[in-house]
Amino acid sequence: MALINEHFLKLPNNYLFSDIAKKVNSFKVTHPKERIIRLGIGDVTQPLPPAVITAMHKAVDEMTSKETFHGYGPEQGYSFLIDAIIKNDYASRGIMLEQSEVFVSDGAKSDTGNIGDILRHDNSIGVTDPVYPVYIDSNVMSGRAGVLESGKWSNVVYIPCVAENGFIPDLPSRRVDILYLCYPNNPTGTTLSKEELKKWVNYALANDVLIMYDAAYEAYIQNPETPHSIYEIKGAKKVAIEFRSFSKTAGFTGVRCGYTVVPKELNGFTLEGKRVPLNKLWNRRQCTKFNGASYITQRGAEAIYSPEGKEQVKETINYYMSNAQIMKEGIQKCGLEVYGGDDAPYLWIKAPKGLTSWKFFEKLLYEVYIVGTPGVGFGPSGEGYLRLTAFGDRDDTLEAMARLKKWML
Ligand code: PLP
Repeated sequence: MALINEHFLKLPNNYLFSDIAKKVNSFKVTHPKERIIRLGIGDVTQPLPPAVITAMHKAVDEMTSKETFHGYGPEQGYSFLIDAIIKNDYASRGIMLEQSEVFVSDGAKSDTGNIGDILRHDNSIGVTDPVYPVYIDSNVMSGRAGVLESGKWSNVVYIPCVAENGFIPDLPSRRVDILYLCYPNNPTGTTLSKEELKKWVNYALANDVLIMYDAAYEAYIQNPETPHSIYEIKGAKKVAIEFRSFSKTAGFTGVRCGYTVVPKELNGFTLEGKRVPLNKLWNRRQCTKFNGASYITQRGAEAIYSPEGKEQVKETINYYMSNAQIMKEGIQKCGLEVYGGDDAPYLWIKAPKGLTSWKFFEKLLYEVYIVGTPGVGFGPSGEGYLRLTAFGDRDDTLEAMARLKKWML
């Protein structure tokens, strides 16, 4: 008899985006003629950069001949990609990494979800609230989150990020062993300054806290003062793992590639207090459970660091960030409170007239045919907000703003 991991049964049945899909489908049945504009799910719409396509075609061609064919690659990623990552994403910011500190993967969702494999089940968790749901759900699955009581997990410390505190998280009121930080933030679209990030690194250093730093949206940062990596802060290599993704940077949501940095100086502890390098454990975990991202994918990812690739990536990001500006101005003109959108492709709107997130979602769907994501789906402090993404087509973005203005004004 195979006994199940009963922690899975604690997870609420419905996944946020399937709830949204159901509501959108029932709208479509009753309003078959209306054109819906989807600004809900955070998926990109623009094609891959041409430099990536060329590199992937070339890699496919290599697979046709015995001499250049690639079978299993290194579980940690090919050195051509790791070298490009270190040189362009880190050395350029004065951060020195060794090859063996970078682990290429099939994306940041897998890595942020799987990292718990190397940590004990009874660590306490801290998250900024609202939050990318994977951090919490993956901890529920491993039994680390405790039980759900009035919308909150008993072993998770929620650190509210709301308009009232400028979306700047305060240090947690209760001890946490593992803390998730995501900047630029999904869903609020806000960032942390170097000073604020320093506060967290110093807190982690003083309290032996492990920081999981998700920088999946760092390529969207426009403000030259905003940190792109947590390792820009002194001492961070001793306390933080950093997750990066090519999904939003270069349109890889369907191709699948990302990477995780686990510095050699970063330790976890045994119950007896002995220090153990987490790099070793993550390497062991990946070698056992992961067989590498495909050669073709990694050649595609490498191409984003070529001079043409960099230009093309910048162009697409500028396109999305221009959408974000159009949206922010449009929403503000409607008299709504809106946050984010300056250094991230997300806009976080306060629902008008005290509406709940779901009520605001339904009004937007039924009255202007725009699909957003209810903020409460990202955590209790998301109640009363709604997320829109800047990943849409320009024409759709402009039309969405025109509809919104007509509706509000
Ligand atoms: N981290 C955050 C904060 C995200 O919003 C997302 C995707 O939406 C991911 C990670 C997942 O990225 P990937 O496509 O690399 O799995």
